[in-house]
Amino acid sequence: MRQKRFRTRFAPSPTGFLHEGHVLHAVWLWGIAALCDAEMIVRIEDHDRQRCRKVWEDGIIRDMIWLGFFPALPCPDMSGLPRIYRQSDASANYERDLQGLLLSGNAYPCSCSRSQIRQRIEGRSAWLYDGYCLKYQADPVLPCCIRFRNRAADLCSVDGSCDEGVGRRDVALRDRNGNFTYHYCVVHDDLSQDISLIVRGEDLEPSEGEQRALARCLAPDRAYPLCYYHSILKGENGEKLSKTTGAPAVALLRERGYHPDLVRGLVMHKAGLLPAVRRITISEIPALLHPRLGAFISTVSLFSELRPSSGV
Ligand SMILES: [Zn+2]
Repeated sequence: MRQKRFRTRFAPSPTGFLHEGHVLHAVWLWGIAALCDAEMIVRIEDHDRQRCRKVWEDGIIRDMIWLGFFPALPCPDMSGLPRIYRQSDASANYERDLQGLLLSGNAYPCSCSRSQIRQRIEGRSAWLYDGYCLKYQADPVLPCCIRFRNRAADLCSVDGSCDEGVGRRDVALRDRNGNFTYHYCVVHDDLSQDISLIVRGEDLEPSEGEQRALARCLAPDRAYPLCYYHSILKGENGEKLSKTTGAPAVALLRERGYHPDLVRGLVMHKAGLLPAVRRITISEIPALLHPRLGAFISTVSLFSELRPSSGV
């Protein structure tokens, strides 16, 4: 099989059912993957063992097959599905590289509770960590998380002289319960799975700075993937659409007799990508998205010229 120019990933967390927000993401992802000539892999982001369930994973796979996204992909193993990776299979690798970060001084234990951090950084961004345990060391008696030592955050200090720009957080890599975090797993996976194109919702854009910094630490010679952030669907309360904000489940639409092409059309209309609801096949998506991608497509052309692509 001819090698694709890029490699991207569909990376659901099996913490609930597939809903309209996920369908919109799949529309963007499949459309951009087609336009960029990208191979697709599936990554089940089940790093949070307390919240993830196999029944949710099975439901997501079933719904994606019904929607037609999986069979539309090139299938490396003849199973009808793209290659599937699970974060729960990678724990030993996460641990090995976490120890490497600790040994090289690029990670450190932190015993601060949320309320302690909140008290110290009063009036400033609630999500900013102030580097307290980097300066004074963690309390060895208390349970600790492991934080990334983000060199971009070195201007942040406990005396409050801190630039609160995004990308500067010392994000947790493993929480105090021993769970590897979203930030750590996603950066580690993108490197180990050779991802070169990332398509994700705009709500994740503020995390890119920390993730780039972490990727530079784990693999200094690797180029960071090309990223595209798409608009997301929001519930009536203005929050990102989720099962808690009343997103209709894909399974429910299927039971009500909706055609998968109509589900795509409904979601694309809600997102402002279609002036009126109509059936949309997967093969129509790239042409519908292309006019909205202007500058990004130019960047893709430039980026792919810089990367060696092996034809045939
Ligand atoms: Zn701390």
